[in-house]
Amino acid sequence: MSEKSIERFDVVIVGAGLAGTSLAYHLSEACPDKRVLILDKNEIGANCKHSNRIVAQDTKDAVAEYGLRTVYRHKGVKLGTFNEIYATLDGGVYVIDFKDTCSSFFKKSSAEFRKEKAVALKKDKILVTDKAAYQYSFLIDCSATSFFLRKQLGLSLPFRYWIGVKKYSSPDECSVPIDRRYYYNLMEENNLYLYEYLYNGQALSYCKWQNAFSKDIETVTNKEGQRGYRLRRIKEPFVEQKDFVGFPGNPLLPLVVGNCAFLGDSAGTTPPQSGFGVDMSLKCAKMLTDALSKNDLDYYQKTWKRTFYQHYLRHLAARIDRSSISPALQKLKNYPGLDKVCAAVQKNPDSYFSLIRNNMDFSVPKEVKECFPSRRALFLLYHYAEIRARYLRSRITDSLSILKRH
Ligand SMILES: Cc1cc2nc3c(=O)[nH]c(=O)nc-3n(C[C@H](O)[C@H](O)[C@H](O)COP(=O)(O)OP(=O)(O)OC[C@H]3O[C@@H](n4cnc5c(N)ncnc54)[C@H](O)[C@@H]3O)c2cc1C
Repeated sequence: MSEKSIERFDVVIVGAGLAGTSLAYHLSEACPDKRVLILDKNEIGANCKHSNRIVAQDTKDAVAEYGLRTVYRHKGVKLGTFNEIYATLDGGVYVIDFKDTCSSFFKKSSAEFRKEKAVALKKDKILVTDKAAYQYSFLIDCSATSFFLRKQLGLSLPFRYWIGVKKYSSPDECSVPIDRRYYYNLMEENNLYLYEYLYNGQALSYCKWQNAFSKDIETVTNKEGQRGYRLRRIKEPFVEQKDFVGFPGNPLLPLVVGNCAFLGDSAGTTPPQSGFGVDMSLKCAKMLTDALSKNDLDYYQKTWKRTFYQHYLRHLAARIDRSSISPALQKLKNYPGLDKVCAAVQKNPDSYFSLIRNNMDFSVPKEVKECFPSRRALFLLYHYAEIRARYLRSRITDSLSILKRH
């Protein structure tokens, strides 16, 4: 492709989902002079076939702020298992029309849209698509679980996903008594599966989610030619299913690499249970807009860390603690001396940082060394103990019983 045929844009956004379109909208408001291009291999808001999206009570401001069109409003959420509802959280839960939301963000923006698939990055800030090439000042990856940019840059992918299957049924077919006015979030006793039940005004949709490490995921194509995700190791629950969906559940730093940044699901910014992706994407789009208007992408990552890091770490600790998949984590969790190590780290947080700095001058008890002989294993133990000591105030079941009491 000749130099002349390469169009230049201030910001090129890959992906016209919620993250990409809301960023385009904010950019048009904050810096109307910037020339912005949005690319999507599909239509705007294409990733909507599985569901509308839920926006919870604490984000109802977003519904008002952006004038999001709600298709249904629940009274609240019921949390529990199939045998017992632990807590009923009253407060609005809004179901928004995903495609309509993305389209209206785009319409309110002054960005250009082209239906093209991003295929490669070249030097001199050139992005190549299946139809053209573009030069960008900033490239923003909003390609969600396609992870276009992460794969191009050889970066690791968010290490946990929620893999799910969505089914639609009439309310009578449901195995648990569903009160249509609520949205249900039910865990199996072993915490391996999360079930969502959602009445959307016409039908009941039910989704069964399983969390998984990225290495356990494979891409599959079903008989109807739909692509999706499947767990490598635990295939059985999905054999009968027709349609797979997946999204990452852990923020993964860095959010910025050179003149490129990640936003939305490609950044992994969604906490594991669905219900926060919309909110996080909208909040992060604002932060990224601030950074782009200053032409300083690092400002995005700094603001993100300041705003979400504590929340993220707390959340990570809970997830590490609940994980039952990794043998290494099992060993850490089941180590009989864990409480002592946690207490030691809490008393002397420097012990953990000494390990990071490769400085072994603090004393590791002999029995701990015997059980965790390599430096890496020891590091993992102290890291885990540190996270537990600092961030894990109560186990998830404790939190639920606290909720229940109030
Ligand atoms: C089934 C499901 C249910 C969910 N439910 C909720 C919910 O109830 N509440 C909530 O808050 N969040 C929910 N989420 C999460 C939420 O939808 C996302 O966090 C949010 O929409 C951010 O999405 P995004 O823009 O990053 O990705 P998407 O909206 O998935 O958009 C990514 C876009 O990138 C395009 N693309 C990918 N690769 C390329 C490429 N190489 N070139 C060009 N285009 C490309 C895709 O076509 C797609 O349009 C759900 C997610 C899923 C999958």
